[in-house]
Amino acid sequence: MRNALSCDALNCVHNANNLCSADRINVDGMNASTSSQTNCETFVEKGIKGAFTNMMNMNVQGEVKQLFNKNSNSMSPEITCEATSCMHNIDNVCDANGVQIIGRSASSSSGTECETFKK
Ligand code: SF4
Repeated sequence: MRNALSCDALNCVHNANNLCSADRINVDGMNASTSSQTNCETFVEKGIKGAFTNMMNMNVQGEVKQLFNKNSNSMSPEITCEATSCMHNIDNVCDANGVQIIGRSASSSSGTECETFKK
C-alpha cells in the first residue's frame, strides 16, 4: 500500500522536494508512546555512500509519475512500521494517508520522527 507521504528531512538522500523517492521505508519505535519516540529508519545522509543506498531503494515508477504530476504527490513509499501502539499500524504496515515525516536538520535517522503517530 502506498499512501501519500511528505518529509522535510532535506539531508536524506531519498528526499526530493519534500517527497520521498524511496521504494520502501521502515519507521521504528517499537515501544513508542509519542511521535518523538519514532524514527524513519531508512534515512541515509546525502553523500557518496548515500547515493549507492538510494540506487538500491528507488521508486522508479513513482518518480516517473511525479515528473508528470508536479503539483500533486504521486511518489510515496511503502511504509512498514514497528510502532505497534499507533492507531494507524495494521500488522506492521501503516494505513495512514498523509503521513508526515519530520527532521529538517537531521543528519541521521534519530533526528527524524513520524509526526503522524497517534496512540
Ligand atoms: S527520512 Fe525517510 S521518509 Fe524522509 S526522505 Fe528519507 S527515507 Fe524518505
